[in-house]
Amino acid sequence: MEEDYKRVWAECLEVIKDTLGPENRKAFDTWFTPIVPLQLEGTTLLVQVPSPFFYEWIEEHYIDLLKRVIRMQLGPNGMLKYSIVVDQTIPTDPMVTTLPSSQRSSTRNPLTDLPVNLNRDGSRDIPNPFVIPGIQKTRVNSQLSPNYTLENFVEGDCNRLARSAGYAVAEKPGQTAFNPMLLHGNVGLGKTHLANAIGLKTKQLHPDKTVLYVTSEQFMQQFAEAGRAGTTNDFIHFYEMIDVLIVDDIQFWSGKAPKTQEAFFHVFNRLHQRGCQIIITSDKAPGDLQGLEPRLLNRLKWGLSADLQAPDVETRKRILRQKLQNDGIDMSDEVIEYIAYNINANVRELEGALISLIAQSSFNRKQITLDLTKQMIDKYVQNTTREITIDYIQKVVCDYLELPVDAIQQTSRKREIVQARQLSMYFAKKITKSSLAVIGAQCGNKDHATVLHACKQIENLRQTDRYMRKMVDELEKKLAE
Ligand code: ADP
Ligand code: MG
Repeated sequence: MEEDYKRVWAECLEVIKDTLGPENRKAFDTWFTPIVPLQLEGTTLLVQVPSPFFYEWIEEHYIDLLKRVIRMQLGPNGMLKYSIVVDQTIPTDPMVTTLPSSQRSSTRNPLTDLPVNLNRDGSRDIPNPFVIPGIQKTRVNSQLSPNYTLENFVEGDCNRLARSAGYAVAEKPGQTAFNPMLLHGNVGLGKTHLANAIGLKTKQLHPDKTVLYVTSEQFMQQFAEAGRAGTTNDFIHFYEMIDVLIVDDIQFWSGKAPKTQEAFFHVFNRLHQRGCQIIITSDKAPGDLQGLEPRLLNRLKWGLSADLQAPDVETRKRILRQKLQNDGIDMSDEVIEYIAYNINANVRELEGALISLIAQSSFNRKQITLDLTKQMIDKYVQNTTREITIDYIQKVVCDYLELPVDAIQQTSRKREIVQARQLSMYFAKKITKSSLAVIGAQCGNKDHATVLHACKQIENLRQTDRYMRKMVDELEKKLAE
């Protein structure tokens, strides 16, 4: 009976060896054979490990496996306790500290939590995990981009909810109602940027959390590779130890990859149970995500789904100014306005236009003038879709009448302002596909009847009033430019 602990550990080792398989033989020799069983107290097995680092490594990489094995041998209350040799350089009577196996599944424990100085007198060799074959990483590479921060994610009506929910999530990952957090919106509206930014902010506020960003395509490929290599369990374990998991572009799985989706479903449930945060992006709203496993789709509805809209013109200007400031480049307001008014589909195009313009001007050593901008942007816009917006019409009309562009939003009944508003409505009706209600809402918050009246009024004046005819003709030309 006295030797029970040895027998229990020997049996554990058998199972571990089996589970790891021959391809992980090196890892087994490195991390498991040095463990020495010491004692069995009820259902708690005390084992000795050679160093604090060793303890951390095992907790980080093999805790799930160990837990399972211990419970197999010692029943559901089976526990593992470590006795850690703190300093091997003192030959007599090594100091020992015991730590219980962590209750959290497995995140890296910060070194500072251990009551030892690992590098005392430089006399200790810390095993370098990079040189141990069969094991690739010491730390999960977060795959976050340092450039996509929350600070440089410009706020506007188009993203306010998503951005502030993102901040809340970063402050208390897994602890808010926003779990999972689903970010959706058309391409180029900032989903990847915002998801990444939440990851960075989380790392900043909680350095001890393991954050991982993956694209759904990457997840699918890794899963397929793990299947081929027979390491699917490792794959699942790896994902189960992440604290904040960001999966980008989940629509990629639509109508395919049922096994990947199943694996993710499993990981999702485990993480959610453990109070870990899950952030998912999609270019479709949950209701339109056809071809995704219904079970998975159902899970996605648990938390918050926040959408990103196309930014309005003021936000577009602020985004441009911020990009310029980051790059240390100066541009006149009229140039910025021209770009902001003419490129409205999404932020990626806005950035693309800005970059081409900067490139043009530096290749040809030309100043970035309004003329150069017009040529460039017009070419650029022809290649994409040029769409004249109500914003742009208002801008042209107000410039022509020498009014500030927000004049249209004022409730004023001053003749020139009423005229500007009516002209904007008239051209918006003529040129854009917007409904009367939308036009009214954007032109000083009026109803559709007011818009209709304005259109008739301008048309009448155009027939009867020479001055008005000239003005409408000139504006028409400017808008067509
Ligand atoms: P999505 O993933 O939705 O397709 P991205 O996150 O890749 O879009 O965004 C496209 C580009 O636009 C990125 O370079 C990003 O930095 C930028 N961007 C998007 N939204 C904003 C914003 N609100 N503030 C600053 N940059 C933004
Ligand atoms: Mg993206």
